[in-house]
Parts: sequence; C-alpha cells; structure tokens
Amino acid sequence: MSVETLQFQAETKRLLDLVINSIYTNKEIFLRELISNASDALDKLHFEALTNSEILSGDENFEIYVIPDAETKTITISDNGIGMTRGEVISNIGTIAQSGTKAFLEKIRESEGKIDEELIGQFGVGFYSAFIVAEKVELITRRAGENSAVKWTSDGAGEYTLEDTEKESRGTTIILHLKDEFCGGEDFDFTNTYAVENLIKKYSDFIRYPIKMNFEVEDADKNKTVEVRTVNSMQPLWTRNKADIKQEEYEEFFKQQFHEWEAPQEILHTRAEGTMEYTALLCIPKHAAMNLYYSDYEAGLQLYVRHVFVMEKCKDFLPDYLRFVKGLVDSPDLPLNISRELLQQSREVKKIGKALEKYILKQLAKILKNERERYETFWADYGKALKIGVYNNAYDEKAKDDLKDLLMFTTSKDEKLSTLAEYVSRMPESQTKIYCAIGKDKATISQMPQMELLKERGIEVLYLLDPVDEFCIDSLNKYEDKEFQSITREDFELDDAESQKIKSEVAELAKSYEVLLNDVKDALSGAVQEVRLTPHLKTGAVCLSTGANGPSLNMEKTFAAMNNPFFKAVRILELNPNHALFGKLSGLHSLGKDTPEFKNFCELLYAQALLIEGIMPDKPVEVANKIAELMAK
Ligand code: ADP
Repeated sequence: MSVETLQFQAETKRLLDLVINSIYTNKEIFLRELISNASDALDKLHFEALTNSEILSGDENFEIYVIPDAETKTITISDNGIGMTRGEVISNIGTIAQSGTKAFLEKIRESEGKIDEELIGQFGVGFYSAFIVAEKVELITRRAGENSAVKWTSDGAGEYTLEDTEKESRGTTIILHLKDEFCGGEDFDFTNTYAVENLIKKYSDFIRYPIKMNFEVEDADKNKTVEVRTVNSMQPLWTRNKADIKQEEYEEFFKQQFHEWEAPQEILHTRAEGTMEYTALLCIPKHAAMNLYYSDYEAGLQLYVRHVFVMEKCKDFLPDYLRFVKGLVDSPDLPLNISRELLQQSREVKKIGKALEKYILKQLAKILKNERERYETFWADYGKALKIGVYNNAYDEKAKDDLKDLLMFTTSKDEKLSTLAEYVSRMPESQTKIYCAIGKDKATISQMPQMELLKERGIEVLYLLDPVDEFCIDSLNKYEDKEFQSITREDFELDDAESQKIKSEVAELAKSYEVLLNDVKDALSGAVQEVRLTPHLKTGAVCLSTGANGPSLNMEKTFAAMNNPFFKAVRILELNPNHALFGKLSGLHSLGKDTPEFKNFCELLYAQALLIEGIMPDKPVEVANKIAELMAK
C-alpha cells in the first residue's frame, strides 16, 4: 500500500518541539523509556495470553533486543510483545490523550520555554524522548494475533508517515537514526555495545524480561563470532532483603518500572507473613501527576503472584483517596489466573488492601511526627487527596479518625501550616469550638469584616482556602470533642464573657428595631431570608452569613460550577448597629419604607455584603448607577 502522511495532533507537535529543542542533561533517558515500553508491551501480551493462549502462536519466549550499530548509526530496540495495529499506532503514537496536556503546556508557557526535566517528568513524554537523540525514528510493529504489520516513520517535525509492511513475528521494533553527536564520540556513544550495556545495567536491570544484546567475541584463533547475552539480572528487587537494597536501587527501580522521571519522595517496602503473605513495594511520586484528580487517571497497584506479573493496574487494593500511591503487591496467596471480576470480590485482596492502607497512613503519621518539612512537601502535593478521603468517608468514623491527624491548614496565626491538634493546643480555655473561615486566599479572609473582632480577641481562625476544605471539615464535623464553626454561619458566636455581653446587648437593641429590620428584608424582595443586627462587626457596616446548616456560599459556587444551580445558600444580612450607616438607614426609614431613598439604600447595603463575599450583585449596572447617584449628592 502507498505511504500515507499524517499530521501530529497540535499538542503532540508542541510537545515534540519542546523535547527536541530542550537541553537535557540526561541524554540517555530514552533508552530506559523505550525499554520500559517494551516491557509493558510484554506484560500486556502476557496478560492477554492468560485467557487466550492462542495469541502466543507457540512462541512463549518473551524478550527484548537492543542492537547498537556503528555502521548504520542506529540503535534498535525490539520486543516480541503485544505490538500495535495501524489504528493503535495512530492513537498511541500520534496523539496525547492525557487530560493534563493543556495544563502542562500552559505551565511550560509560564516558565517561558525553560523546560526542565522535572516538568517533563511530571508529564512523561515516554516514546517522544527518542527524538532527544534521533533525527529520525522508525517503528515497525505487528499486533499479536494479526498478520499485517505497519511502519511508522517521523523526524519529529510535525508529520509522520505510515505504510503497510512485512514483519516476521509479533511485536515492535524501533530504529533510532542517531544524530551525529551520539555516534562514536566519547560521551553518549549509543552505537557502542559496552556503553549501552552499562546503561541497561544502570537503568533497566530489574526489567523482568531478558534484555539481550549481541557481543562480538574472539576465540583463541582470533576468529570472531557473535554471542547473544542477557545483560539485566532480572531479579525482582522486592524479593531481595530490605537491608541489602540501596536507596539508589529503589530509586532506579521506580523510575524504570513506573515511568517516574525523578526519584520518589517516599519509598515504602513492607512484607507480611502469617495468615496472609505478601510483599508490597510502594512509592509516593515526587510530584502529583497532572491528571491525578481527573477521571482519566488510572490508579492501581501492579499485581504479582509468586513473582509472576499478573496485572498492571489493580484498583482493589487501595481506597480511591490513596490513588497517588504507585507500586506493586506480590503475594503467593492469590491464584495466578485471577480475573478483574474475581479480584474485586477477593477477601484476600481486601485484607491486603486494608493492611496496606493502615501501613501507608502509619508511615505518613511517622513522617509528620519526625520530619515535619518532608511531610509538608508531601502535603503540598497530596494534601488534597487526603481531604477528599475524609469527604469520601463522611459516614465512616473509623476512616475519618485515621485521617484527621494527617490534615494540615493555614491559620490566621502565621504563615505556617498547622495540624488540628496544634490548633486545639493553642485554644484559650474559654474557646469551645474550632473557628474557620472560607475564602480564596489568606489576604481575602484576613480582610473579612468578621475577622476584626476575632483578631482583637486573639482568636485563631482556620483558613479553608481550597474548595474541598469546607467539604472535608463538614464531613469531619468535630475534632476530638470540638465542633467546627464557620465564622460566616448564622450560629457563629464567641464564648468569652465580653462577647456574650455584647451579644445580649445587641439582641436587646434588635427588639426596638424589629420593624426596620423587617422592612429592609422586604425592600430586598426575597434576596435574603433574614436581616439582623450583628454583634460580630467592629468597623464594618455589613456582612453576609448563611444558615447554620445547608450549603454555604462557597458550596453554592462550587455546585454552580458543576452545573448544579439548585443548591442555594440561605442568606442572612447582618448589620452593625454601631456603624454610621445604620443611623442613616434608620433616618431614611422614618421617611417611609416605600421611598426610593430607603429602598436604594437597602440594596446598596446588600450589594456591599455580596462584594465582601466575592459575589457579583445580580444587576451590577443598576448598583453602579445608584452608587454614582449617591456620590454625586
Ligand atoms: P506511555 O508509555 O507513558 O503510555 P509513550 O509515549 O511512551 O507513553 O507510549 C504511548 C503508547 O504507545 C503506550 O501507552 C503504548 O500503548 C504504545 N507503545 C509504545 N511503545 C510500545 C511498544 N514497544 N509496543 C506496543 N505498544 C507501545
């Protein structure tokens, strides 16, 4: 068939430009990436063969070949794994499906083209890393079980060609036509067998399939023959004694096994014996994956049974909130040919999962206790996941109990993060509740009119800055025996004697303004459920609070963003009786509750309360006109 020329998807093209033009310190990384892909392709074939052994067509040797060639200036990586159909080549190699792509490219734009490996690593360019060293890449592949093969060729500059071709057996062969600087030189000579052998030993030693290379050997008579040798040890790292494994070995293992660009921030290796036998080698990647909270993120641990690979992403071990944990479980107690359906029902898997969850949380608690800074680094990347965990376990007291002491928040005290225990330990004796405030950032909350009195009384407030925070706190309900109290809910009050005194004075005063407050409510024609005098303001004139239960203003915004406009917060307008505006309001009221002056004044008071909460009034132009009118007077 003729040669077909296709365009890369726009995002792929941008990514390729970045990869080709960026300065990598780690030129050799492509080898690890391509060997990793080859190993994955063998895994996939292995998995498919568990239920359909015919797909192997009698060839049960799983192997990877790496062939450097100085003459043709190429390095070839081939596997006899699952291979790809023409359609799969187009969708896997020409496009990037991850939902994080846009965010990633945006981040690069922000860094003004200064792309670094860390950034690339968070995204994982995998196959495209070939273009760091190659001026042209050819990929010839034949899907296991099919007869036809396809050849993909590209120089990485926006286009690729596809043509039908012949291939003797299943699998994928990738030929890299190396740029001159990577052939024959002192550094980075990827045509040198021994240099490449060393790289494989360094990066891909634990690959569980043999990686074979051809070595030229001379016999006693100086006759040259070619000998095929396996260069990786293939010993699964996790089967070795923990004490004998070096930190670098763990790090390399996670890099090659889980496509991690950087060493993980935490490595967890645990072994259980007794009723349930298993080994788990887990890690928390250095950075959260770009799509961690998107639906296309695939969580799950690799599953091995008696050191034999069974499945890539087994979701049944860890709860969803620990989706960021990568790693593997190897157990002799599970059947080798276990299907996904059986896994879901397996009591053994549940048991191992429970034990792993407990173990991970215990390790995190240990880090928090002993290495605060390290924990805060973890928290910056993964705190959101734990908070979602609390929310997802709203009705599971035990699960919430396990998580509550791992949570961190900023507070009004200083810039540092605090645990709930730390906040409680600083509470004055008279304080019975944990006060919290919701806002988009610290500065906004700090300027909220309700904060003024709290600051004066020296009362610390928990800042809920992430939309998920409020859902998390709501689900927790209490910490120890202390309830959480939002300072913008109508039932907010301070416990100290002074505040209680002000509260009863204001309540007394409110009795004589009952009619006024009712008329303000009427003037706002249903926008608020109640208008009341507040004991919480000092110099501010107004503020908005919401019903003691039900959605808050913040939740209303979150739901609206999710196209769910029916969750409405109950709004209460609170007025400061000591503010000059209140005197003015009362004066205008005596002119008559139906006068435009009184009505406009009420509307502007409400508009102010909305603005303080970051909410746009319904009719901004009308509000602006009314302000202009008032200013011109
Ligand atoms: P990743 O491996 O992170 O998914 P890559 O860009 O490295 O990203 O590869 C994209 C996809 O191309 C893989 O997910 C896989 O489906 C396919 N692929 C890559 N290399 C091979 C191979 N040697 N055999 C079969 N499929 C492959």
